[in-house]
Amino acid sequence: MNKYSSNGRLLIPLAQREKVKAEKKEDKVKYVVTSAFCPNGCSIIDNEYPINGYPGLRIKFKRPGVEGVFVISAIEGDFEKIVLSGELKQGVKDDLFCPHCGVAFEKLVNCGCQPDSDMVVIGLTPKLDFNNSITFCNVTGCNNGAFVESGAIIRHIRLRNGF
Ligand SMILES: [Zn+2]
Ligand SMILES: [Zn+2]
Repeated sequence: MNKYSSNGRLLIPLAQREKVKAEKKEDKVKYVVTSAFCPNGCSIIDNEYPINGYPGLRIKFKRPGVEGVFVISAIEGDFEKIVLSGELKQGVKDDLFCPHCGVAFEKLVNCGCQPDSDMVVIGLTPKLDFNNSITFCNVTGCNNGAFVESGAIIRHIRLRNGF
């Protein structure tokens, strides 16, 4: 069976992922992002720093007076990240950029955890498509700090707004 779905995601049975299973028992299958791009089309998959066995996503962050680079886990719902430079601060928002060309990542909606928080979007295709993207909050320590599919958030917003 081909484990790769058509849209750049590697499906992993939970039996191989005890840790993730423990966190979210209700889901049968997690997915791993195998391709991710900045709005200009640079690949941000980072083979140098695997997290829980999979290449992570490399992202540049900036806030007043601080900048750095981190790698987030490519596994849906996994909060693990490696900070390569700079420092993240609990409860503080960072603006996120492509580590290669420096363009800012698009934002989908306000997360709601604090007034200036954003759900940042990372496309799974070289040309950004909000329906084939992942999204996570840019405030360190937020419950929405691990990524989910942006399509799920878009559906949620539609339900909430009744259209
Ligand atoms: Zn770029
Ligand atoms: Zn948040």
